[in-house]
Amino acid sequence: MKEQSKEKLTGSIVRQRMEELAPPALAESWDNVGWQVGGDTVEVRAILVSLDVDQEVVEEAARHRATLIVAHHPILFRGLKRIDPTTYQGGMLRRLLCEDISVFAAHTNLDAVRGGVNDALAEVLGLVPTHPLQAVRGAPEGWGFGAVCEMDSVTTEEMVRRVVQALGVAQPRVTRGRGATPQHQRVALLGGSGASMIDDALRAGCTLYITGEVKYHEAQDAARAGLTLIEAGHFHSERPVLRRLVDWLAPLGVPIVESTQVTSPFEADWKEGVG
Ligand SMILES: [Zn+2]
Repeated sequence: MKEQSKEKLTGSIVRQRMEELAPPALAESWDNVGWQVGGDTVEVRAILVSLDVDQEVVEEAARHRATLIVAHHPILFRGLKRIDPTTYQGGMLRRLLCEDISVFAAHTNLDAVRGGVNDALAEVLGLVPTHPLQAVRGAPEGWGFGAVCEMDSVTTEEMVRRVVQALGVAQPRVTRGRGATPQHQRVALLGGSGASMIDDALRAGCTLYITGEVKYHEAQDAARAGLTLIEAGHFHSERPVLRRLVDWLAPLGVPIVESTQVTSPFEADWKEGVG
């Protein structure tokens, strides 16, 4: 009887909690954050948090009787003209709707906030962010994309060791900066794809940049400019934020489950697992 008198948790309460952590106004203009499937009126009985939503993640949510998936990567970007259940995405959307599972995304807005993707990455690597690599207009002081971390001194090898141990990446790709120092006092980091902020890292006086992934020519340019890169992989560099989301949503009073699916398309990431 007591259970029945308990107030139902609605999508609107979860949305407000998520927007308190990651205000949607901070998302990039091309992004599509917020409700992907469902909306404020849905009833939330349990939540699965995940970096991505794919068919395995939907099944995982169903197994946990989760009626909401809070994801980092949005599932809808372009205007949807047709839902064809015979395609991968159409089938996934059909399954979500049939199972009554909603999806809410916090993407570049979760990248831009304190306590988001980059703070989570810094924490597991034992680094303390001092300021963002790139400020975001309209955001509070100290918020923005990426992070600059200052310390007494750390070697490239030591940071590679931490990436291996803390993120579970077997072999991070390392690009040595030309004439690079083996000791670093200023380290830049950005979870996910960080190539667009290589120049910001250099301008900030960083000699080491830890990010998810960088393309061949971008890595060449960085190395030639003297910046050492450690690529920790997109999936593994963003994954630490899931634990933060679980903790952030815990006060809502419904079960919050962290996905154990490795949604990365790269086989090496599957072998490494979720650590
Ligand atoms: Zn990402």
